[in-house]
Amino acid sequence: MDQLIVAKFGGTSMADATAMLRSARVSKDHKAKIVVVSATSGTTNQLLELANKAVKGTWEECEKIISAIEAKHHLIASDLKVSPQQQEVVNQLLKEMSTLAQGVNLLRECSPRAKDQIQSIGERLSSVLFTSAVQKVFESEENVKWLDVRTLMNTDSQHGRAVPNITKISNKCKKVLPNLRSEDIVYITQGFIGKDDLGITTTLGRGGSDYSATLIGEGVGADLVQIWTDVAGIATTDPRICPKAQPIDVISFKEAAELAVFGAKVLHPTTLSPALRANIAVFVGSSYEAEAKGTWIKKSSDATPLVRAMAIKRDQAMLTITTPKMMNAYGFLANIFNAFAQNKVSVDAITTSEIAVSMTVDADTAHNKELLHDLRKLGDVAIEEKLALVSLIGNNINHTPGLGSRIFKSLDNINVRMICQGASKHNFCFLVNDPEGPDAVKRLHYEFIESQL
Ligand code: ADP
Ligand code: ASP
Ligand code: MG
Repeated sequence: MDQLIVAKFGGTSMADATAMLRSARVSKDHKAKIVVVSATSGTTNQLLELANKAVKGTWEECEKIISAIEAKHHLIASDLKVSPQQQEVVNQLLKEMSTLAQGVNLLRECSPRAKDQIQSIGERLSSVLFTSAVQKVFESEENVKWLDVRTLMNTDSQHGRAVPNITKISNKCKKVLPNLRSEDIVYITQGFIGKDDLGITTTLGRGGSDYSATLIGEGVGADLVQIWTDVAGIATTDPRICPKAQPIDVISFKEAAELAVFGAKVLHPTTLSPALRANIAVFVGSSYEAEAKGTWIKKSSDATPLVRAMAIKRDQAMLTITTPKMMNAYGFLANIFNAFAQNKVSVDAITTSEIAVSMTVDADTAHNKELLHDLRKLGDVAIEEKLALVSLIGNNINHTPGLGSRIFKSLDNINVRMICQGASKHNFCFLVNDPEGPDAVKRLHYEFIESQL
């Protein structure tokens, strides 16, 4: 029996009609049965800017953004020579965008629900246009169908970071796509967006289309999820920071998950959870260079280098909660974690001393009034912003004598603010001032990767 394959194409793979046709060919050559797409390049940012200007700016400013989005999508539609029905759907979606922006502009308020509805336009538009591109490549309209992912992607109602309901997704996949393996149809659908139990559109968080792809893969019982992007797989660090970043052929789920969680944008942080649960292989490749090797993410890899890769998370904040009450006390850490849990905020790295606990969070969290209010009941809270969390990802990284000295020698005269080591075999991370982050990555990449070539 043929493998059941889900493929995902990111925004850069949807940049224009040429990129769409190229990606359509890749999806055909690599036998994808379900194709999940992101909004066209830059569109989600434009839609968020539109929502923002509708609240705080003038209608003229909104119109400028609306015109830019309209022009970009009309151009792709005309280059692809979409069918009259597809053109009508595009027109309707652009009209919906404009109406939503008008509503927000009148109210001068954009609820999280409205923001998700506005953002959803991006993926809904690109998926209609991409359906046309895939139909061209297959030279068939009947065998390539557009699918509204909201019929599958059930989530809770936390707009902007909705949590998918795995059981419901799996049931809906069986109901909506009962003959997936046997029928000769390719489905084109949207990443990033979902629907809650009330039927309201939600989003999974920025970059969430990767996560959509593995969730759908899990839901339909796929054998393989392919993530097609603008780089030929996962590299030893972000090639934008180090042009000499080396491609990785095979990486374990655990290492790749650490990379994703600690900032490697190539995968959304939660992408690998469904794949791990359902034991689905994941491949990351370039839609621009599909013949290049790419990276396989597997349960385990034969090579287990001490240092595999470096990741960086920019714009981090450190919260330090200090109280003498912590001395010889119990339950204090539980109270702190409880405050984070109640406010649904995740922590990346944490260190404790006898009277203080420091933790790193995304910059937005440093302004989360409810969380700060709860933490201030437990002690003094100091906030440091404009930090970067730099991580080394590898194997047995917590048990290797001399590693720390190599790291800190290469970071000579970069001020290290907090160090986290020991909890994971796969991760060693520390905080530096944000502007020094890329330099820290370059130096570590030289020490552990380039100088070893
Ligand atoms: P897409 O639009 O396809 O989702 P993204 O921009 O979200 O693409 O992710 C791809 C980008 O991730 C690359 O262009 C690269 O700059 C960045 N990146 C960060 N870390 C890594 C890494 N270790 N390997 C490869 N790419 C990385
Ligand atoms: N379009 C969404 C974003 O830009 C989701 C994605 O691209 O993965 O965040
Ligand atoms: Mg992405």
